[in-house]
Amino acid sequence: MTIYNFSAGPAVLPKAVLEKAQSELLDYKGSGMSVMELSHRSSWFEDIIADAESLLRDLMAIPDNYKVLFLQGGASLQFTMVPLNLAQGKKALYVNTGSWSKKAISAAKALDNVEVEVIAACENDNFNYIPELPKEIDQSAAYVHITTNNTIEGTAFQTIPDCGDVPIVADMSSNILANDYKVEDFGVIYAGAQKNIGPAGLTVVIIREDLIGDAKIASPMLDYKIQADNNSLYNTPPTFAIYMAKLVFEWVKEQDGVAGITKQDQEKAGRLYDAIDQSDLFQSPVVKEARSITNIPFVTGDAELDKKFNAEALAAGFENLKGHRSVGGMRASLYNAFPAAGVDALIDFMEKFEQENGGK
Ligand SMILES: *Cc1c(COP(=O)(O)O)cnc(C)c1O
Repeated sequence: MTIYNFSAGPAVLPKAVLEKAQSELLDYKGSGMSVMELSHRSSWFEDIIADAESLLRDLMAIPDNYKVLFLQGGASLQFTMVPLNLAQGKKALYVNTGSWSKKAISAAKALDNVEVEVIAACENDNFNYIPELPKEIDQSAAYVHITTNNTIEGTAFQTIPDCGDVPIVADMSSNILANDYKVEDFGVIYAGAQKNIGPAGLTVVIIREDLIGDAKIASPMLDYKIQADNNSLYNTPPTFAIYMAKLVFEWVKEQDGVAGITKQDQEKAGRLYDAIDQSDLFQSPVVKEARSITNIPFVTGDAELDKKFNAEALAAGFENLKGHRSVGGMRASLYNAFPAAGVDALIDFMEKFEQENGGK
């Protein structure tokens, strides 16, 4: 049975990347060692991290005045590092578009010398759309934080708001390398790797140099300046995850880069949304204008029927389709590496289920 993995993260990786890693697993480039066994100070690893950075710079057209950091702690640690480095003694503005935004907001609020203000939110409507930002953004604020793609709710910013001179900080964990956003529209971009970049354990941070400041930070590991000054090698980085990310970046390049991938993702998502829209049984809980192309929740409107669908889907080889515990229903995460054939198989399965279970 073919298994299709719809996991929201850690998520499916390109098969070609896994095969390449397998072929190099025991002996990396004649070193007689596995990447996992290489010193992070060795020239082999220095090349790996340098290649990973330059590939990502090419793919995202990252301007020279931005640093690329390979850190640990997940996107969740960035919820703290961002306000700690950028907003001590200042005001930080947040847009609350879902569960991950809420966690970012509460992490910032936990710092007693950061003033947090939520300037737009859509929680009252179950986060099923992306709210407009106010016309006037307080220009004295340290940043405006947004979550470009709401992994759990299935919404995404289709365009990046204009906040004047206030830098936008973006949690891009679930749609990095799957959109046509421009890096220069952001002050900081961060993403846990385990959705679109590689295995868990690595966090990518792209930060404009002028935002790496002189904030007083008690813990060196949490200081962007120390991480940047040491080229992400202040301590032992997640070496194998960085190697895997490098292989994924090479794979993205082979898919005609981010533009090619985005096109593939739009086609995959478009087919699934069409199937949902044409169905009498399945619905999307999200407003059309805000739909994510990487995380697609859908429901029947009947919790028992959702449960039946999930059980039968799992038995048919569709892994991790169950919706997030906070939302219920189903969620298909169609990240970059998710094969188009899996989308077609899911659509066939949904049609069959609908025939067997009536249009309600
Ligand atoms: C998965 C996810 C996170 C959490 O990432 P960790 O690496 O587990 O900390 C944060 N934000 C978004 C948008 C996510 O999708």
